[in-house]
Amino acid sequence: AQRCVIVGAGMAGVQTAVALREEGWAGPITLIGAEPHQPYDRPPLSKAVLLGKAEDSALDVDFGGLGIELRLGVHVAGLDTAAKELRTEGGPVPYDTLVIATGAEPVQLPGVEGVPGVHLLRTLDDAGRLRPVLAAKHDIVVVGAGWIGAEFATAAREAGCRVTVVEAADRPLAGALPAEVAGPMTRWYADSGATLLTGARVESVAAGAVQLEDGRRIPADAVVVGIGARPATGWLAGSGVELGPDGAVVADDRLRASAPDVYAVGDCASFPSARYGERLLIHHWDNALQGPRTVAGNVIADCCADPTGVAYDPVPYFWSEQFGRFVQYAGHHGAADELVWRGDPQAAAWSVCWLRDGVLVALLAVGRPRDLAQGRRLIEKGARIDAGKAADPGTPLKAA
Ligand code: FAD
Repeated sequence: AQRCVIVGAGMAGVQTAVALREEGWAGPITLIGAEPHQPYDRPPLSKAVLLGKAEDSALDVDFGGLGIELRLGVHVAGLDTAAKELRTEGGPVPYDTLVIATGAEPVQLPGVEGVPGVHLLRTLDDAGRLRPVLAAKHDIVVVGAGWIGAEFATAAREAGCRVTVVEAADRPLAGALPAEVAGPMTRWYADSGATLLTGARVESVAAGAVQLEDGRRIPADAVVVGIGARPATGWLAGSGVELGPDGAVVADDRLRASAPDVYAVGDCASFPSARYGERLLIHHWDNALQGPRTVAGNVIADCCADPTGVAYDPVPYFWSEQFGRFVQYAGHHGAADELVWRGDPQAAAWSVCWLRDGVLVALLAVGRPRDLAQGRRLIEKGARIDAGKAADPGTPLKAA
């Protein structure tokens, strides 16, 4: 029987293994993960798990019952696509089909190696180290006002810590949202009692303080770095699997990598979106849930020489819980030419619609989950909407 090996036992790897079984893959499935823990979900790490409201976030999957061999605590160090073998400390692991699902690694600040009290937030172990920091109500400096920085600052304020967020850009979420949309979110920090310093760059970090380039020195019992993540693909160096400038495995529209019988999915892979006319690299949970179904379908189709594979072309979706607000986003606004506000961004709940040639391409909803649900369906359909009507938050979003 054909053996499918999946590298990376996060959301994307686990869902791929499960989807393969659901779709009828009869051969052995081996799921290899570097972390020692039972596979778990990451979003709760910056929310309930961090605050001790949940012990862990293990995924509820019966691996044994599904006939999925789980090899945990195993780091895959290399790939030989000619021999169809993975290199691990415990010896080579052969495959017939390989799925790369190694996710992403957080970017570290330069020069902080060995400095005590500097943290990242990506893994269960990271969250475990941060929990006592929050419980001790320390002075904390968060570097980066992105999604992770905002969620961590929220938890730290809730725990009663003094929180300063240092952001190099002039606003939060600068990499993700345009200024006019992210601008109103600046106030959320102050309202929660956190201090947000924008346009501020870290010069150095020493035990007990963060030194900014402008001369300011901020006391810090702990520093949490949230300045982004990069695909965890270093182990593919020299394998011949094509990586993009962003470090992502360059997958095709069926999530196949450049080597035979190799696929890639989740945070580690970029794919061409026909819907948006560009290559997307998505670091969000829903992509690690949806992508695996496409991979599983294509692995089975390709293996059975069935040409009817399925293209992956999702409407991206994610959510964030920050400063008491539920923020949701669907679509991709890169090529939008019109922005429509639904409600006042100073209020507790509002949404923003992005249109291109009158077609809804993306939507951000703050505390308006119904807008998100309606908007997501319209985006999926490629529906045209009436900008005037969409601007009235009292009427449901619908096709023109
Ligand atoms: P990962 O979850 O990173 O899993 C990859 C696994 O592969 C890891 O366990 C890693 O150890 C393993 N691995 C890597 N290299 C190797 C190797 N060489 N050998 C063996 N194993 C290897 N998204 C949202 O949409 N909403 C949220 O609210 C949200 N909150 C988040 C909060 C936090 C704290 C974090 C970190 C992420 C959050 N995300 C959120 C993003 C979401 O969790 C990720 O998009 C998702 O986890 C990606 O899944 P993945 O399986 O592709 O990668």
